[in-house]
Parts: sequence; structure tokens; C-alpha cells
Amino acid sequence: MTESPPRHTVLIVFGTRPEAIKMFPVVHALRADPRFRVRVCISAQHRGLLDQVMAIAGIAADHDLDLMRPDQTLDALTAALLTGLGQVMDLEKPDWVVVQGDTATAMAGALAAYYRKIRVAHVEAGLRSHNIYHPWPEEVNRKIIGTIAALHCAPTETAAAALRTENVADEAIHVTGNTVIDALQWVSARIAAEPSLASGLQPLAARFAGRRIIGVTSHRRENFGGGLEAIARAIRTIAARQDVALIFPVHPNPNVRRVMEAELAGLDNVALIEPLDYPHFARLLGMCEIMLTDSGGVQEEAPALGKPVLVMRETTERPEGIAAGTARLVGTDPARIVTEIFTLLDDKAAYGAMARAHNPFGDGRSASRIMELIANAG
Ligand code: UDP
Repeated sequence: MTESPPRHTVLIVFGTRPEAIKMFPVVHALRADPRFRVRVCISAQHRGLLDQVMAIAGIAADHDLDLMRPDQTLDALTAALLTGLGQVMDLEKPDWVVVQGDTATAMAGALAAYYRKIRVAHVEAGLRSHNIYHPWPEEVNRKIIGTIAALHCAPTETAAAALRTENVADEAIHVTGNTVIDALQWVSARIAAEPSLASGLQPLAARFAGRRIIGVTSHRRENFGGGLEAIARAIRTIAARQDVALIFPVHPNPNVRRVMEAELAGLDNVALIEPLDYPHFARLLGMCEIMLTDSGGVQEEAPALGKPVLVMRETTERPEGIAAGTARLVGTDPARIVTEIFTLLDDKAAYGAMARAHNPFGDGRSASRIMELIANAG
């Protein structure tokens, strides 16, 4: 009888909605391969939004630190993450810890693994805005992970080049594409097979029939205190046009909710709605003409669907959409946002130039590449 090779124990750590979206394809790929023993640990840095993604992706966590607390400081969160994730690592004794992106959970997961000399694979490595306060604190989180990781899964050549300039060993850097494209393709196939998964937007589609839909998301920390009010004022001005309707799933963060409700509640062509689960969000991306957002992930998803995306930030660590012409940085100045939206609405050529489906972020096979890289690293 031949002995089967030893299996790698891989601990996959995440805590927020965007991490869960970008990590579920990796969990699916590793779980389907007998070379791995896969354990999933969630910090639940976001609770409800994370659980929605877990449910649609059919993933149950093996460890749930349940760390979301109201008004938690970054210090308290980071301390609790480090202790909690370290305990899980001591219990599971993984060969690899896999983290994604730039959150406190990912950073603390990498650090706890480093303290135990466990190898770290970083999914979506090498994104840099080169401004440590935009996005804050994510730029620094990502750089910390970059100094620790043994395997850097860069989504694009640009990200790989950024790592090389920081003297990360060339053989540790691999361009895998971004798993967000895997996730979007997976959820689109699920919706095609089971349309009821995303049918909840039908009443809004009926209410706004004949109007041009603009999708909005906004939740960035660095826009708290002034930026969000400015964004809300811009939306109010845009909504003065009767040919448009804005659909805005509002992030549950009370800072965001308070500002948006104060400025926008009661406008009949602005729908402030609860956060959408991932299939419904994919449906919104399909329905809208333009996305107005400060999100990172939406900057990657919208270009893949050929939807112009106006990014309400001063800088972006995802320049590929800008370079491809499907995304544009507009900051948070209301006059600028309104001008850019009106140009896209009124100038067919300007719209056409941005609305080209472009996929600088991946081909939907990133997770299987990441799986092979971990397997081959031994
Ligand atoms: N998203 C979602 N429902 C929503 C808003 C966003 O499922 O109501 C998804 C979206 O598809 C994207 C991700 O959440 O993949 C983006 O998350 P978020 O904007 O919270 O974080 P960021 O990408 O800025 O880190």
C-alpha cells in the first residue's frame, strides 16, 4: 500500500465582508483538494455582513472569535485579534496561515503567525497607495503583512512590481489575479441557476423603471468627519434630476447611517437600503449605469462588468482601473462629483469611453493558482 503524502494544515483567517468575498473562492479550492486540511477562523470584525457572505458561500467557520464591539478602538480590536488568533494557531498548529488584503484581522493574523514562525500566504499582496493615511489604516496593515509573508499572491503586475521595489524576494512573488473575479463569476453563475437568489431588488427596479440607475456605496474611515457630509450633499444635488435614481445600500456603521439619513431620507428617487447580500449586490452592479463609491472591491468588480466607476477618494491603491479608463478618482468635493456624474449621464462619448468591460484584476482562476502555490511550496 502506498502512503499518501502528508497533508498541509492551512488556517484561513478573515473577519470582514470584503475579505470573506475574496477568500471564499480560496476556501472552496483548498477544501476540494485532498492535499489540504483546511481550518477557517473568522474574527467577525464585521458580524452581520460577514455572516451573509458565509451563508451564500456555504462556509461554516471552525473558529469564531466574535470580536465585533460597538465603538471599538483600533488598539482594543488589534489586541483582541492578536490574542485570539494566536490561541487558535496554538490549537490548530497550521503549516500555513492565509490572510487576505489589508484589515486589522489580516495584519494581526500575519503577526500572530510570525510570532510562531508559521508561514503566511498573503492573498491580494502588493497594493500600495503610497500614502499611509489613505486608505487608513489599511495601507500600513498591508505593508506589515508584506514584510512577514512567505508567499505574496499579487493580483496584478503593478502589485508585484510594488513588492519588488520593497525588496521582497522575487521567487516569493506570484501574479495570481484577484480572487474577487473568481467570486463575481461564481456568484453570477449561482444567480443564473437560481434567479430568486437576487430577486429582492425587483420592487426597486419597478419603482425606478425608466430612470437611470446610479449605485452608491460609501463607508471609508478617512471620509468620516466632513467627507461623508460632502458625499451626501453631492447625492442630493444629483437627485434633483428626475431622470435618475440612486440606490444606496448603507453601511451599518452609525457614522455613515446618521449622515446619509439626515441629508437624504425622504427623497423619492434615492433609495437608502440595508446592505445587500452578495448576490443582490452583484445584481445592483448589473442594473446600474454608473457606480459611485469609495470602496476598494467595487473598484475591481465594476470594471469587470463594464460599469464606469467614480471613486470618492483622493488616492487609490488600485490604479489599474484608472489606467484602463473604467475608473476615475473624484475625491469628495460635491461640485466635482456632480460634474463627473452629469458628464457621464449627458455625454455619450464620455460614457462610452469608460463603459468598456475590462478586467485588469483577474480571469476567475486566481484561487486555483493560489492553491497550487501553497501545495508546491511544501
Ligand atoms: N458589497 C456587498 N453588499 C453591499 C455593498 C458591497 O456585498 O451592500 C460587496 C461588494 O460586492 C464588494 C465588497 O462588498 O465585493 C466591498 O466591500 P466594502 O466596500 O465594504 O469594502 P472594501 O472593498 O472597501 O474593503
